Amino acid sequence: MNINRRSVFFWGMVILLGVMMFAPLYKTDQAKEISFSNFLNLIETGKVKEVTIAGEIVSGKLKDNSLFRARALNYPNLVPNLREKGIDIKVESPMESGWAWALISQIVFPLAFFGFLWWLLLRQAQSANSAALSFGKSPAKPLSGKIKITFADVAGVDEAKEELKEIVDFLKTPEKFQKLGAKIPKGLLLMGAPGTGKTLLARAIAGEADVPFFSISGSDFVEMFVGVGAARVRAIFQQAKKQTPSIIFMDEIDAVGRHRGAGLGGGHDEREQTLNQLLVEMDGFDPKINIIVIAATNRPDILDPALLRPGRFDRQVVLDKPDLRGREEILKIHAKNKPLAKDVDLKVVARRTPGFTGADLENLLNEAAILAARADKKEIFKEELEEAADRVMAGPEKKSRVISEKEKKIIAFHEVGHALISKLLPNADPVHKISILPRGLALGYTLALPLQDKYLVSKSEIIDQITILLGGRASEETEFSEVTSGAHNDLERATELAKKMVTEYGMSKLGARTFGRKDRQIFLGRDIAEMKDYGEQTADAIDCEVKSIIDVCHKKAVEIINSNKAQLEKIAGILMEKETLEGEDLENAFKTSQ
Ligand code: ADP
Ligand code: MG
Ligand code: ZN
Repeated sequence: MNINRRSVFFWGMVILLGVMMFAPLYKTDQAKEISFSNFLNLIETGKVKEVTIAGEIVSGKLKDNSLFRARALNYPNLVPNLREKGIDIKVESPMESGWAWALISQIVFPLAFFGFLWWLLLRQAQSANSAALSFGKSPAKPLSGKIKITFADVAGVDEAKEELKEIVDFLKTPEKFQKLGAKIPKGLLLMGAPGTGKTLLARAIAGEADVPFFSISGSDFVEMFVGVGAARVRAIFQQAKKQTPSIIFMDEIDAVGRHRGAGLGGGHDEREQTLNQLLVEMDGFDPKINIIVIAATNRPDILDPALLRPGRFDRQVVLDKPDLRGREEILKIHAKNKPLAKDVDLKVVARRTPGFTGADLENLLNEAAILAARADKKEIFKEELEEAADRVMAGPEKKSRVISEKEKKIIAFHEVGHALISKLLPNADPVHKISILPRGLALGYTLALPLQDKYLVSKSEIIDQITILLGGRASEETEFSEVTSGAHNDLERATELAKKMVTEYGMSKLGARTFGRKDRQIFLGRDIAEMKDYGEQTADAIDCEVKSIIDVCHKKAVEIINSNKAQLEKIAGILMEKETLEGEDLENAFKTSQ
């Protein structure tokens, strides 16, 4: 039945019942209630036309056709009196009128009416449910067959792919595993920062295994009516069970899978119901049924621990941000349908984009294509890729911001200070680009990029890093005998590094231990909580150590700047003229200035 016809039917029923409820009242209202003596008088004066006796209620019609009602005593002369006057007499059982009507109109109908309203409300909720139940027929069909994505479309997450191949094998040939008594995990949780390809990878699993893929996103549940989320979960499992082997994919599961009772403003009933239903379904299905539930989240820290228990999402795969090689491969995948000019080397682009996720890299190539199209080019050149990378990294170049000559000079000396120290220190990363064009919030920037991604950093590398960060300020000091606020971010980062040396890496006089405990999700790149596990005295000692590291580095930076002042000035001059120095230009600037 379609919704419109159904609601017409409902409201028809409401009106009908309302009428039925009030009709009896209406009927009795028409008859005039009169006293018994009045009734007798009316008989005497011969005004009554007909009378209906029902128990002690007497009703009837007068000759002028008006209706009346009276309570009568059952006195023996009544009938003879009536007969005498030739009045038509009807006798009814008391059930048919009087209290029977009262009973029906005042109790049964209201009950029926409210019962009906109740039923109506239930229907409403259920019709929403049935929308969920008809899920398999409606838009969210199983996506199998349509998925052309395979593992070849996902790059830079080789370890995750290795783990997932096993799942694919199982979905393809479950017998092989079952013969050996192997139990395959029911649930698999993909974790990783946004844009690392979780959704993509889940689809690739379905594509590889070529099985039905039922996909639903956590946010789908939350906007629904109460009870619908749970019904949807039930429905999706029912569907999947009919077509095994199959995959159920729950994207952004953190939307439903938060710690129960931990939501702001009290528990979120709907979410809890949905989560409980999910747990029930996952516990309920027979391990012999070949369904794998894959979930994705970028907030594993807020997931309800119940989800991670054995038999649920006990397999967890972390998707890291891609490394240098990974980035190059991802770039290759997304550059496939984009004409690249000869001067483009994706390896260089990959080197220039540490910390970029797959989504960022896709975005980068897209931006570059847009820039090239805007410039009416037939191919994407290095220039566009560089610009696009900067855009993705720090927001679009602010060409409109005006910098005074004086500011420009300060920024140039500041940036060259960083660059020169980078160049001269043994453990520093090579400088890739210096710019005095404002970008995002930064006024200028010096980009030093490692030749490879690093997983271990030595003490001397960190010291050099801090020295470079302080180089900008040092250069301002020696050149202008005055400092500016421009070094704010540098100082913050330098302090951070120095503090880490002391409290995390055990690289100070305080010895090889850590200070403060942290719960952290490394791939989210953020500390969740910090606990102080040392006393006041130690805190002072830490501050002291941090200060002495900074002081030593700062002194070193000033020394380097002072003994290379001529070179610094020359390069700053070139930078002020060209605004941006990179690649060959940068090399030349360093060479000619020596
Ligand atoms: P997530 O679900 O982790 O937030 P998505 O899977 O939605 O990220 O990724 C967004 C897009 O970024 C994908 O559609 C894909 O084009 C690109 N992408 C992300 N990671 C990768 C990767 N490892 N390899 C290739 N493309 C990727
Ligand atoms: Mg996603
Ligand atoms: Zn700086």
